[in-house]
Formats: sequence, C-alpha cells, structure tokens
Amino acid sequence: MFKAYRFRIYPNDNQKILIHKTFGCYRFIYNYFLNKCKLNGYKKAFDMIKELPSLEKEYSWLKEVDSCSLRCAIFNLEDAYRNFFSKRGNYPTFKSKWNRQTYRTNCIRSTYKGKEYQSIELNLKNKTIKLPKLKEIAIRGYRNLEEMNGKIINATVIYETTGKYYVSVLVEEVNVKKEKVKPKSIVGIDLGLKNLVITSSGEKYNNPKSLMKYEKRLKRYQRSLSRKIKGSKNYQKMKRKLSILHNKIKNARKYSIINIVNNIVKEYDIIISEKLKVKEMSKNHHLSKSIHDASFHKICSMLQEKCEEKGKYYYQVDTYYPSSKTCSVCGTKTKQTESLGVREWECEVCRTHHDRDINASINILFEGLKYCFDK
Ligand SMILES: [Zn+2]
Repeated sequence: MFKAYRFRIYPNDNQKILIHKTFGCYRFIYNYFLNKCKLNGYKKAFDMIKELPSLEKEYSWLKEVDSCSLRCAIFNLEDAYRNFFSKRGNYPTFKSKWNRQTYRTNCIRSTYKGKEYQSIELNLKNKTIKLPKLKEIAIRGYRNLEEMNGKIINATVIYETTGKYYVSVLVEEVNVKKEKVKPKSIVGIDLGLKNLVITSSGEKYNNPKSLMKYEKRLKRYQRSLSRKIKGSKNYQKMKRKLSILHNKIKNARKYSIINIVNNIVKEYDIIISEKLKVKEMSKNHHLSKSIHDASFHKICSMLQEKCEEKGKYYYQVDTYYPSSKTCSVCGTKTKQTESLGVREWECEVCRTHHDRDINASINILFEGLKYCFDK
C-alpha cells in the first residue's frame, strides 16, 4: 500500500536557488527528450537514460543538480507516453516554466562499511527532510506522526504558484492488520446538500463559515482579474492573490472534512453511509455540484481509511435505497420529500414529525444493519 505525505518545506536562500536550478534541469531533460521523441519516434526510458552522460558533458550545468532527478524526468516522460498510449491521457506536452514547478527524485539505498544509507531521510522528531544535494530542509505537517510506518519510495519537490514550497513523500506502508474492535455503537450518516453530514443521532456538520467568506472573495477577485490587462504587473499580482485564495479554500474544505470524519470515527464503532447519489444531486443547478461530489467522495474514502486504521467497521448502502422517502418509524413511503426544499415533514400513517436528513440517516442505519449481519 502506497501513501503520499505532503509537507510544507522552508528552504533557505541557497536551497531555494538549487531547487529552482533543479526544476530547470528537470524541465530541460523532459522537454529535450519529448522533442526528440516527436522528431524521431518514441524511445523507451532505458534507452533515453543511456544518452544522459553525453548530455551532461555538453551541458555541464546539469551536473550541479541531483542526477537522480534527471533520470526521474525521463521516467516521468515515459509515464506520460504510457498514459497516452493506453488512452488515459493526451499526448505529452512541453513543461512550461510559468506553471507550478516540480521535480521528483527516487530514494536510493546503499550500505557502506556495514552502515545503511538512503538518499532521502525524513526526521519527524527534528522536523527535517534530507534530500540529495540539498541536505536538511525544515518541514511542517503531520504534527502527531512520530514515525513513518514504511519505506520511502520517492519525493517530489513542489513550488506552487502561491510561492510556497512543498515536498510530497511517497511511502510504501507495511500493512499491519489492525485487530477489529468489539462494536458498541452504530451510526448512520446522510450526506446532504444543506448540511454536509447528518447523523442518525441528530448531529449536523457543515462547512466552516470561513469558506463562505472566501467564496465571496473569490468571485470578487475573479471579476477584478478579468478587468486587468493580461500579462500586466497588476494582472500577475491578482493572479497570485487568486491562487493563494484557492489554496485557502482547498485547505478549509480539507480540514473541515478531516474534523468531521475524526469526530464520527471517534464516537462510533460501526458507521454506515450511502453511496454517492449522483442522480438526486445533478437536479440541483444552484450549487456547484462538482465541489459537493468531491467533498462526499473524500468523506467516504476518509471514513473507509480511518475505520481500517482504528479497527472499526464502515459500510455503504445501495445508492437506490429510498432513504429520504421512507418513514423510519413505520416504513411508509411518502411523496412529500420529492422536492429538495422540503426540510421537515409528517408521516401520513403514523404521524411522526421528521427532519428530512435525520430521518434519511436513520433509514441508512437500518439498511446498513443488514450488511452487518451478512458479514
Ligand atoms: Zn410513519
């Protein structure tokens, strides 16, 4: 199982210079071989790598940077071609220095005089990462993680358009089978449009208020950008402000989801949700649907992951189960909830007064119980 850990990094001035040199060399190698492939036909990475030494002789500045990253640039190009050949991607395009910059380097292990060395070292206690040629860089992130549970495969250094630096470390994790807990509590959750998450116990979780504020600001910035002259200094400034804001929105969303999932997994041993209801949601044109879909998808996959980690149980019930149309007390189906605007309703038969979403999550809970007994 592979997992990527993304840390913010704080390179000093010399390290910054070297990082940007490496981006340049990485891009140069990628574009050089892409151009060659375009002219003379595609070659395997292995054959392209054979040409590296002569290139390094011709362009001596290539020797200043991490040589492993240059080989990675070639593998990166091979991946792009593979995606294209298998119809998963478009034909590879040249890397531009105006976009987000990245380079990847593999973790190389060696033994010298009985001691083991590796080219990438992560020290979570001192909060540093050692990368080839760069030595130690300060990192931030994963405060509660004390040790990596696995082997580092590679690291990607990233310079975002916001002007911040990151490193994404890919780790092959040892799959430790966590012993399952004896379940004592169970909850059904409904993923809604008005409230992001509603539990069968009546808890409602929502996006943070800051998000609304940011989204208003986003519209204002976008309008302002469209009025500026493309390529002008003010345009560039606005563009950077926009990407910083985009980043803030992304983080606010991410942290609210992490918070919701952590709360639910801490509280309950068996968690039941529905699969994404694409049909019902696509009817609603006012909300940016793709964002909601992405949030739901993220919540479900995080619930899965967290439950596995803690030895808890997570089940998903069928998408077409009519959770919002059924009375959770007597089982009568109603037509009252057909409109998404109906938040509360009263059952025609048993006269129970329902909150639309809580009722749905209780039904999800009941439906999920069937799954629990099957397994
Ligand atoms: Zn009823």
